[in-house]
Amino acid sequence: MTNRIALITGASRGIGAATARLFAARGYAVCINYRSRREAAEAVQADIEAAGGRCVLIQADVSVEAEVIRLFQQLDEQLGALDCLVNNAGILHPQSKLLAMTAERINEVLSANVTGSFLCAREAVKRMSTSEGGRGGSIVNVSSMAAIKGSPNEYIDYAASKGAVDSMTRGLALEVAAEGIRVNAVRPGLIYTDIHADGGEPGRVDRLKDKIPLQRGGQPEEVAEAIWWLASDRSAFVTGSFIDLSGGL
Ligand code: NAP
Repeated sequence: MTNRIALITGASRGIGAATARLFAARGYAVCINYRSRREAAEAVQADIEAAGGRCVLIQADVSVEAEVIRLFQQLDEQLGALDCLVNNAGILHPQSKLLAMTAERINEVLSANVTGSFLCAREAVKRMSTSEGGRGGSIVNVSSMAAIKGSPNEYIDYAASKGAVDSMTRGLALEVAAEGIRVNAVRPGLIYTDIHADGGEPGRVDRLKDKIPLQRGGQPEEVAEAIWWLASDRSAFVTGSFIDLSGGL
């Protein structure tokens, strides 16, 4: 058991929920952040507690600076000094070509996926940096294979937001490497979660799975394993790196 403390943003469902369950099972005290689905977040909390784990729930929209500041203050009070941030919260909008995209839509995606990840990373670095009196730590960003593929005809705004997450991963990793903080990312491919329904196509993974070299979609638990490895001391010599979980796509 590690006795470490991890914040998983967007942990009410999907990859974040699987990550929260796995971290708790491996000894982390976990903060489950969510934006709006309180009941779903409570169900994750109930699972963790039933398995003997420790967790707290904190609602906050990570795209809003004041809410991120409050999230970290509540986390300090309720769990203590953070060891690991998993920047998982993310959104996409219904599939669309660029010609139909509004500024409002593009800015919403960038605010949640990029600004949110930056703000949470900033608050985590403040607490973890050995230059600021912290004891170091690990940040794992949840990017996407979309950053590489570009998601044409579906959501190039989302893909570009994940490209920004990749750049931040590399740059921040170098910026804080000497301060005891490692920064890495996972790039999932097609994973069975409800995000595809938000994109207007709940069956998207099944439609595309035959194009995946491994001939299937991925499960959130498989992504959680890679996040856990990047967060843990097993990957102590790894920073500024990416793990693609895409079945070869
Ligand atoms: P999901 O099932 O839709 O879950 C998204 C989570 O993020 C929910 O817990 C949601 O909270 C939270 N969230 C969204 N906006 C937020 C905000 N502004 N502030 C705080 N929380 C927010 O998505 P998922 O498929 O698990 O995706 C998780 C991450 O993996 C995302 O970054 C996504 O881009 C990435 N990813 C997913 C896939 C895939 O195929 N599923 C592939 C590549 C990358 P509420 O439910 O409370 O609103």
